[in-house]
Amino acid sequence: MDDQMVVHHRVHRTWRGADRQETLDIFTEAVEEVRAASPDVEAIGFGIPALVEWEAGVSRWSNHLPLDGVPFRDLMSERLGLPVRVDNDSNLAMLAEQRAGAARGIGDAVLLALGTGIGGGLLLGGQIYRGSEGAGAELGHIVVNPDGPDCPGDCPGRGCLEAYASGNALGRAGTEAARSNPDSALGRVLAAGREVTGGLVTELAHDGDPLCREVIAEAGRWLGIGIVSLVNIFNPELVIIGGGASAAGDLMLDPAREVLAERGLPPNREMVKVVLAHFGSEAGMMGAALLALEAAA
Ligand SMILES: [Zn+2]
Repeated sequence: MDDQMVVHHRVHRTWRGADRQETLDIFTEAVEEVRAASPDVEAIGFGIPALVEWEAGVSRWSNHLPLDGVPFRDLMSERLGLPVRVDNDSNLAMLAEQRAGAARGIGDAVLLALGTGIGGGLLLGGQIYRGSEGAGAELGHIVVNPDGPDCPGDCPGRGCLEAYASGNALGRAGTEAARSNPDSALGRVLAAGREVTGGLVTELAHDGDPLCREVIAEAGRWLGIGIVSLVNIFNPELVIIGGGASAAGDLMLDPAREVLAERGLPPNREMVKVVLAHFGSEAGMMGAALLALEAAA
């Protein structure tokens, strides 16, 4: 990405279970492919789904990737021979949205990135809020049901928001709905031996499938429960929903807005808008590139 936020080259890799070394190799190879296509790269920014000690560039803990205790910035800088910056992917999504997206000109906003889990970003008083060590704003792990299921991944919590409203949660809820409704479109997918993913549920919902719409509406209501707490605490102007599962759009956001209108505190609930991320699922990548630009300056 250049300093006008124009993306010049994209590379995709899918992580399907790998140890720490292999995971770092995947990152390195992806970056090397970008550099081969655009040789004038001056710095690299990483947005990773981890609790990052911001000053030191160390990944302290990750719920879904083997990145606990990795001195990420120094290690990748040594591997790549370039200046490297690293932060939590959702903090960076918030940064991109502030700089040129949905939160442009806004002082206070909350971002939820619905993907494998749920990432969180906080913009407070015009600044990205990272907490004392940089490990804060883990908004996907606010508890919406203390008697709920174990949080997926390595989180010790129960009934966290990400157990109910992430892309993976949509897939799990869709699978359950398929089992209970074998004659539905989802039931036929499962019977054919295919995997019910959040993406598939979203696609069928957009096509008008009533069962998929209900699965998404239910996730939207849980999302709304989480948003109520965030809006009551932070009184933001915007709640920004990004990540792959935000492709459900208003099918998920309208039920969330209804819960907020019913249960949020006035005046907070009337002042806030719940909107989609301008940069969609690429917001984290754009924010990482913004960090790299700072390092290159
Ligand atoms: Zn959790």
